[in-house]
Amino acid sequence: MVDLSAVVAEIAAEMQAAPDRGVPAQYIPGLRDVDPARFGMAVIEMDGTCHLAGDADEAFSIQSISKVFALTLALGAVGDQLWTRVGREPSGTAFNSIVQLETEHGIPRNPFINAGAIVVSDVLLGRHEPREAIGEMLRFVRGLAGEEDIIVDRAVAAAEMETGHRNMALAHYMHAFGNLKNPVERVLGFYFHQCALAMSCRQLALAGRYLMARGVQPGATAGERGRSVVSPQRARRINAVMMTCGHYDGSGEFAFRVGLPGKSGVGGGILAIAPCKASIAVWSPGLNARGNSQLGTLALERLVQRTGWSVFDPG
Ligand code: GLU
Repeated sequence: MVDLSAVVAEIAAEMQAAPDRGVPAQYIPGLRDVDPARFGMAVIEMDGTCHLAGDADEAFSIQSISKVFALTLALGAVGDQLWTRVGREPSGTAFNSIVQLETEHGIPRNPFINAGAIVVSDVLLGRHEPREAIGEMLRFVRGLAGEEDIIVDRAVAAAEMETGHRNMALAHYMHAFGNLKNPVERVLGFYFHQCALAMSCRQLALAGRYLMARGVQPGATAGERGRSVVSPQRARRINAVMMTCGHYDGSGEFAFRVGLPGKSGVGGGILAIAPCKASIAVWSPGLNARGNSQLGTLALERLVQRTGWSVFDPG
């Protein structure tokens, strides 16, 4: 039997001492100014046992990890129709790439690259005001985590807005193809606010439990019944898209090294799911060349080596 608490503590200690920590995202102050020495990890098992290490309770900018929650809500809103407006193939290109949109007529490859997430935001916006859509997203993640103190970091959202020329280009381009229904400014206002959600590793791992548990968010106490968030099939499919597309053009490498569905964000966080075993969140702000957390990936690689967790070998 693996002593999970000891493993998590051991990995956190190794990561604290790691010399090569990558470089935090530089495009806005809210990300650039985060101390690269930070490292947090949270592992929550099926029975609710929670293992925390390092800065697991420190809130950070979840950025693209929010795309998992947005996809879940959009599938709930429009079902499989969503797939007529966004694909589910890995892109093999950077998170903010525009090149494929030309040849693929404004249909983004998947919901986890920026273009795809902007389409998902448009779907969620529907006929709502951006403020209402942000409120719905906040209620959703707070409900999943069972914690009310999850907030949107307004300074980060404002800075994203000011520097978001590439995202604006993506959005206008897709609008020209008829794949955005709402005005670009409103869609991006919502998109930037969801990226600016601030959560801790513990909160993220709590929020991801439905993907570990066949779509059911476990109850707060051992005896309490869980709440169905998505069907088991949908949970499997969201996990599949995380596995194939969750790390941009580094998705193959992540599957090779970690072998679990995972979604990264440029804030340095990663949510990873070991189906029917654990919901895991790691955070270290320094990124590798592909924009994924350098030590977050290494920590997950060590965790699966020591636990044997892999979707390719359910054990
Ligand atoms: N807000 C970032 C952007 O749209 C998110 C990117 C990411 O986390 O990968 O540029």
